[in-house]
Amino acid sequence: MPELPEVETSRRGIEPHLLNRKIKEVIIRQHKLRWPIPENLPQLVAGKKILAVSRRAKYIYLELENGTIIIHLGMSGSLRICTEKTPAEKHDHIDIQVSNNKILRLRDPRKFGCVLWAKGDVESHKLIKSLGPEPLDESFNADYLYSTAKKRQCSIKAFIMNSHIVVGIGNIYASEALFRAGINPKRSAGKISFTRIEKLVDAIKITLHAAIKEGGTTLRDFTGISGQPGYFAQKLLVYGRTGEPCPQCNEAVKQFVQQSRSTFYCPNCQK
Ligand SMILES: [Zn+2]
Repeated sequence: MPELPEVETSRRGIEPHLLNRKIKEVIIRQHKLRWPIPENLPQLVAGKKILAVSRRAKYIYLELENGTIIIHLGMSGSLRICTEKTPAEKHDHIDIQVSNNKILRLRDPRKFGCVLWAKGDVESHKLIKSLGPEPLDESFNADYLYSTAKKRQCSIKAFIMNSHIVVGIGNIYASEALFRAGINPKRSAGKISFTRIEKLVDAIKITLHAAIKEGGTTLRDFTGISGQPGYFAQKLLVYGRTGEPCPQCNEAVKQFVQQSRSTFYCPNCQK
């Protein structure tokens, strides 16, 4: 599943091809994604200039003069830049063609993604308005996380994966950040000291920055026709490494199920 670093990498990959271009045509081959693509989207956006290609949580925004196209990649979505010469394949659900004849194409085999339209202020859209801060923004800091965690009894892993608290920390990066911070994923969010919360905030930012950087350096195939554009092999410390030696202490990495998701951790390094 694309997590925040993949989405940010995708955003950076498509931005130079779309910025300040006018939308020429929108072709919808499949309306039924997680939510239906609005029938009138092609009419709403035709001839409009793309003023910005931005991101909030795991949503990519194409900001136009009259509103915003909101794109989410769901479980299996990917974006690529191509031209009309590249024939659309089975799961290529929507093409947004711009004035340099480049096409932004969404492929989504499992159809959990979405392409929506927000008129006016996108931040007041129902999917967006209750989202917590961005993990890489300054507003996401130890003071914020510590005061929000107070009296919370849920596990720290569930807490940082809650998008009302902070956005874009999925299962992989939650495990990775907790390992870096030396915090046991089962620990109660409200019972962690300020110093350790500070460490966790740093660990989240370091983990995400490293993954975005990795994505940028391995992003070769964005405009190609093969492979999975925008995805990349991540260098993971504990996630998916059950039984392998912990990179810090050599003890075997353990796995257990938490909120029906796999959690990976080192029982020796994470208290
Ligand atoms: Zn360890």
